Amino acid sequence: MAAVAAPTTVTGVTLSIDGRQITAPVGTTIYDAAASIGVEIPVLCHNPRYDPVGVCRMCVVDTGGRVFAAACVRPCEDGMTVITDSPEIERSRRVLTELLVSDQPPRAADPKQTTTGDNALLALADRYQVDRETGDLPLGAGRGRDSSNPAIQVDHDACILCDRCVRACDDIQGNDVIGRSGKGFTTRIAFDFNDPMGSSSCVTCGECVQACPTGALTNKPIGGVPIRPRFELEPVHSVCPYCGVGCALTYHIDRERGAISFAEGRDQPGSQSRLCVKGRYGWDYAASPQRLRAPLIRRQEAYPKGPLSADVRGDGQGDRGRSGPGGKRSGGGRKPGGLVNYEEVLPAFREASWDEALDLVARRLREIHAASGPGAIAGFGSAKCSNEEAYLFQKLIRTGFGTNNVDHCTRLCHASSVAALFEGVGSGAVSTTYGDVANADVAILAGCNPTANHPVASSFFKQARRAGTTLIYIDPRASTVSEHADIFVQLKPGTDVAFYNAVMHEIIRLDLIDRQFIASRTSNYEALATTVADYSPERAAQITGVDAELIRTVARTWGQAHAAVVYWGMGISQHTTGTDNARCLIALCAITGQVGRPGTGLHPLRGQNNVQGASDAGLIPMFYPDYQRVDLADRRAAFEAAWGTTLDPNRGLTVTEIIGSVGKPDGVRGMYMLGENPFLSDPNINKVRRALAGLDFLVVQDIFLTETAEFADVILPASSYLEKDGTYTNTDRRVQLGRRALDPPGAAREDWRVVQDIARRVGLDWDYGSPREVFDEMVMLMPSLENLSWDNLGASGKLYPNADPEHSDGTVVMFGERFNTSDGLAHLVPAQWLPPRELPDAEYPLVLNTGRLLEHWHTGTMTRRSYALDTIAPVAEIWMHPKDAADRGLAHGQLARVRSRRGAIELAVRISHREQLGNCFIAFHFREAAANLLTIDEIDPVGKIPEFKFCAIQVEPA
Ligand code: SF4
Ligand code: SF4
Repeated sequence: MAAVAAPTTVTGVTLSIDGRQITAPVGTTIYDAAASIGVEIPVLCHNPRYDPVGVCRMCVVDTGGRVFAAACVRPCEDGMTVITDSPEIERSRRVLTELLVSDQPPRAADPKQTTTGDNALLALADRYQVDRETGDLPLGAGRGRDSSNPAIQVDHDACILCDRCVRACDDIQGNDVIGRSGKGFTTRIAFDFNDPMGSSSCVTCGECVQACPTGALTNKPIGGVPIRPRFELEPVHSVCPYCGVGCALTYHIDRERGAISFAEGRDQPGSQSRLCVKGRYGWDYAASPQRLRAPLIRRQEAYPKGPLSADVRGDGQGDRGRSGPGGKRSGGGRKPGGLVNYEEVLPAFREASWDEALDLVARRLREIHAASGPGAIAGFGSAKCSNEEAYLFQKLIRTGFGTNNVDHCTRLCHASSVAALFEGVGSGAVSTTYGDVANADVAILAGCNPTANHPVASSFFKQARRAGTTLIYIDPRASTVSEHADIFVQLKPGTDVAFYNAVMHEIIRLDLIDRQFIASRTSNYEALATTVADYSPERAAQITGVDAELIRTVARTWGQAHAAVVYWGMGISQHTTGTDNARCLIALCAITGQVGRPGTGLHPLRGQNNVQGASDAGLIPMFYPDYQRVDLADRRAAFEAAWGTTLDPNRGLTVTEIIGSVGKPDGVRGMYMLGENPFLSDPNINKVRRALAGLDFLVVQDIFLTETAEFADVILPASSYLEKDGTYTNTDRRVQLGRRALDPPGAAREDWRVVQDIARRVGLDWDYGSPREVFDEMVMLMPSLENLSWDNLGASGKLYPNADPEHSDGTVVMFGERFNTSDGLAHLVPAQWLPPRELPDAEYPLVLNTGRLLEHWHTGTMTRRSYALDTIAPVAEIWMHPKDAADRGLAHGQLARVRSRRGAIELAVRISHREQLGNCFIAFHFREAAANLLTIDEIDPVGKIPEFKFCAIQVEPA
């Protein structure tokens, strides 16, 4: 909403609204000017989030002209006299309301309510005392209902064609699904080419539902919980638990049922009330009957460990997912949700009291520690858990067991990016926010698929492009985002270093570098220039498959930009050259001076909701909280003093190193697994299976019986995200409060309490009373969180660093004056291109790329138990180029067998024009066709991240 300036503003116009003189900036609409002085004008088609269109005429006001003016679109004029409320105006609004209501379908028992009680049209009917229940539909009757989307109901008869949904879908989310079809009384909103919503290109973000003022677009009940009017529900302000975007949302809780009725986006500077399908509809997993409700201890007779479910045994007898055309399941006998078969696995366990289970955990871990030393113990924490839980978990492993063998899924995600950023700019966090793309002339989206993996961030990228930012998308796959790019570079997988070196080569050749920035803010430029001199666009074209002229175009576009920013994903990081890939992006920004100003900088799009926070909290083997190196004596001494103990001076093992160590003489023997599921998430599952089976003792703390938990000696029932308070740090460095919305089921406990319970049993004198107390301790030990407190995070959270959280949202742009390196300079690190470790050959001629789908999250533990998400994307598929499929006699939907040197899976073929010839894609969410049975466990030598994005496979009919 436009602000109203003081009357002296020279760029303003002065007018009278209902007899009050105000001055507003030129261009301010009458609606906004009136709102700024508290004058409410009724609207239907208008919402401050969308560009006004003035189609409904409900907001008409008298400006002294021949006809009333629509206040939402009419700009204020100097000397204008506006009357917003008169008998004539009210008569006009009343007639309009009567006309619109007369065309509405019959209402349910309480006609004031649609699903959430927000029917603005019926509220106007109340205001103008119009009979809301006409019961007949003289005009638009029969325009129909559409129930084809699992989460959204469409009632065309209730639609008043205000176009709010169109603007929500197009202008806010950038999905461009909704238009209009028909003529006259048959006109209605249309999804794509008038397709049913459920089979259109709709991504079920629900933005249109949030926009609709009449109940034409409404949420369907999920999980059998009726949607009730919001005034009967308790709002709980929280944060989405899925991706690193960290959208603010509100869960509306039906306390009578102890369940969520619906969720909606909440305003916050980052996400601005937007959500994607996971945040809006993916929360019913918490109410799954499969939730763990009591501690479980493996029965004596279930040693040696068994029974394992068939998929986890890996003997080929599992419930393989079998997909038919269009993603419909056509066989395979999959258990509900493609999940662990509880009937098969649970007999190996017996229920136990918390005391018995916790005593056993502490005793066995202590025994292993005593017998084999600290290095025999390891812990995997979780980036799904809160900052406080991550902090306590790493503190337990370090102080309770004297080892730094603690890590989490950052190792599988952006570890290489963080390594390169630390080396290059002295900080692993982003240098600017995703929303700062609005200030960029040029944005590179590199090795990412934000429309699937960071959907709300992608909506800002798409919006920026509409406003004039040039989007350059660089990725081996032609993902949806490529359709929104000005320049799409479809390079061969694993050739990023060659490509970016060639771009820098060309930028230097054209003298588009920022010499002053290089001289004053960077080191090692000469070495970089020498290296990239060998990467002419022509040479890079041979390596990358990208036309040399296109490489030059990217170089010119970036080099000539005033403000340019790069966002990258795991297509950059998940390679054995992941650190080198990120080094190139850092160098590209640094040599062109594109860091430290609005619209410039470096942003690895973090995956998990709290992978930034978990890393910040020290859930990594080489760093204490705030990235204080464990092998530096002064840093160690500081934490020894704070924690009152002696700490291990050696860096610990990473996720992949821990798995690789099991069974070796000095390897890990006892593990505490908090919310991780390495059986599905780690590369080369057969190796993980051997490691999990080879542990002397494994305790798994989780909300479901996961594939990893099948190997456990003790399983501890944890709280879901929805059942606890905590802080979470998103990809922008925004620390937000997630609030308890529901009670944990059965005897399940909050994770921080369980960690503390174990800590006490291994001899630590912890006495934390709440996550707030833990956060206080973190703030004391972590300079990055300085000035933040549980209370000043507020409803929107705060970005760190933040000098004044009471008055400021925090720092958007970092490194304006100096980098966080010891000398304040950006360290340029040249990189030579190296090929991926396992290249295609005659036996395995295709390249496999793995990643995520929009609807699912990592190992599917939550999303495959969410009705809407699992209904939209129920089965595993291999995405193949049409020719690759045809060459193998494979048709769309046909079952294929996919082999690599490490294993084989069977899943449906999806013919895809998004893949390059010779390249395939499989999402790794599906246990019944686990992509990581195929992947290679070669790792980046610096970041220790596996090469999830490249291995050689063969595909053939099953
Ligand atoms: S749910 Fe989202 S993508 Fe689908 S029509 Fe509505 S706004 Fe568009
Ligand atoms: S974009 Fe990410 S944080 Fe936002 S609703 Fe979707 S999954 Fe949740």
